[in-house]
Amino acid sequence: MITFLSGGTGTPKLVQGMRSIVPDEEISVVVNTGEDIWMSGNHISPDIDTVIYLFSGRLNTATWWGIDNDSFHTHEELARLGVDEYIAIGDRDRAFQIARGELLRQGATLTEATRTLSSSLGIQARILPMSDEETTTLIRSGDQVMHFQEFWIKNRGKLFADAVSRSASAHATPQVLEAISNADAVILGPSNPVTSILPILECEGIVEELRRVPVLAVSPFIGDAPISGPAGILMRAIGHRPDSSSTWDLYKGFADIFVQDIRDPADVPGSVRLDTLMTDPEKSKTLAGAILDLTRVSIGRR
Ligand code: GDP
Repeated sequence: MITFLSGGTGTPKLVQGMRSIVPDEEISVVVNTGEDIWMSGNHISPDIDTVIYLFSGRLNTATWWGIDNDSFHTHEELARLGVDEYIAIGDRDRAFQIARGELLRQGATLTEATRTLSSSLGIQARILPMSDEETTTLIRSGDQVMHFQEFWIKNRGKLFADAVSRSASAHATPQVLEAISNADAVILGPSNPVTSILPILECEGIVEELRRVPVLAVSPFIGDAPISGPAGILMRAIGHRPDSSSTWDLYKGFADIFVQDIRDPADVPGSVRLDTLMTDPEKSKTLAGAILDLTRVSIGRR
């Protein structure tokens, strides 16, 4: 089994490639929930949503969020009624969030709700929230402390980020720890270290478990810029340079192999160079295959 630690863009692109090499039943994805938020009474878990939509073949891969060809009638009607949903929620996307909100209100854990919704959609992979305890990524900008979604979506990432924190500490679920300990290899895809991977690593129990299994990490940086998103400004906000060397510093305590892009000027001694730019599904598949070769995992390969 291959287990990924994932956010909502870089790692899902790699998972997309892996799916065309190994069967879904051999894939587990431990997903960041630090960006979760309740909105208009429903539960948004942006990274879980992206991974579920990917495995159920409905993801909008032009943006890597939301459902392909979704409509926005409810969102537009709510705006007319004065409800400020600063996240654009599609109609079918909202149905999914209503269903999850209901399950949670009825007392299901996030792990149980994710399993129920995954099986409704016939998903064979194991999609696992990092924790069943709520912990939110908070950004401090001057004297304001805000939810990551408020920083990135509502304020369009235009504010300066002075610091990043989590609202609470959280424990990894038993299912997550099992998915790591049973893995032939764990892959940290090229996700934002600050908002996607560190929240997972901070869940109690995860790093200890990662030390016992082969771990490969892929850098989301080329030079001093991420391929997309706010990883650069947020690395600075936690006191690190926004590059592959600093990313490796965050992971080297437990990771065995580090993959950098062939174009990356940063020199991380001992790293493996691959073309990590996944601009189409074929490139994702090629990268996933090369990563599988590096980890020497042969199980279940198609
Ligand atoms: P988020 O939850 O939407 O922020 O998504 P992730 O954290 O999973 O992914 C965001 C990171 O993916 C960014 O830091 C990007 O630099 C990285 N990324 C996106 N596409 C690619 C790609 O094709 N190759 C690499 N190496 N990184 C990528």
